[in-house]
Amino acid sequence: MCSTTIRKKDGSYYIEAAHIKPKHQKGRESPDNIILLCPNHHKEFDFGEVEIKNHDLIQIDFLLNGKAHSLSLKIE
Ligand SMILES: [Zn+2]
Repeated sequence: MCSTTIRKKDGSYYIEAAHIKPKHQKGRESPDNIILLCPNHHKEFDFGEVEIKNHDLIQIDFLLNGKAHSLSLKIE
């Protein structure tokens, strides 16, 4: 979403996995329900106003606090 990366001491990168449909609403632990976000956008996604426009197995289009985003759900 913003291409922020956090490099760790061991050279790997830290990223957070956000559930599109939260686990407490029976959201699944499958790739089509998970997006990878930086910590700031993860919290904005969890606490902000999310309006999902389109969500299928390969892509999600949504508004987050009024700003449009489009993310691929394919595992690369
Ligand atoms: Zn971000």
